[in-house]
Amino acid sequence: MLKSGISRPADTNFLKRHCAALAAAIPKPDQMRNSALVVVDMLYDFIDGSLACQNAENAVRETLKYIDSQTRGQSGEEHEILDTYPILFVRDHHPADHSSFKEQGGIWPPHCIAGTRGGDIHKDLLPYVKEELTFDKGCDKAVEQYSGYEGVNAAEQSLEEILQLLDTTDVYVCGIATEYCVRNTCEDLLKGGFRVHLLKDCIGYVEHEGHMKALAEMASKGISIE
Ligand SMILES: [Zn+2]
Repeated sequence: MLKSGISRPADTNFLKRHCAALAAAIPKPDQMRNSALVVVDMLYDFIDGSLACQNAENAVRETLKYIDSQTRGQSGEEHEILDTYPILFVRDHHPADHSSFKEQGGIWPPHCIAGTRGGDIHKDLLPYVKEELTFDKGCDKAVEQYSGYEGVNAAEQSLEEILQLLDTTDVYVCGIATEYCVRNTCEDLLKGGFRVHLLKDCIGYVEHEGHMKALAEMASKGISIE
């Protein structure tokens, strides 16, 4: 008999329930999180070209620092390190007469035309670019496509498909511009069931007020601003 006077046998069902609840509350260990980085539209037209954005050069530098922080300390060949930390690139990739251009009745100056410098990924990021992890969007003349979620690689696999094949749980996002392509990509990832982490130092934007508003709205939807 216990000091408190309780003498009834242990309630095994209660214990089982209690243990199950405890197990569910324990966070997954880090090695069970599968993270990937998605770099949206770090392309010259958004950095220093026809649609140059604020904080764009800085966002590229901060992204390089972030990649370094995630891969530093890992031993092995560079390609092996990148295999353990997938970095996916999204590219706005338009035909010369895309419907989003002003001459075609759209709202933007011509930008990111396939095959031009403006549509190229910033050179400092090129060491991390792999063809199978590069996803183009806006390729169809008639369709505006801010989100990279349904962008496709050279084998016509979508970003969504590849993240699922990689068993990704957590997607870190950086890129240009907060109010448009970054935001739409983040929101689609969230809808797709991924945990989304937006790297706030690694994004360029059209204007500061819109950037801050978009961050607040994304946070209210459950996107983690880090
Ligand atoms: Zn575009």
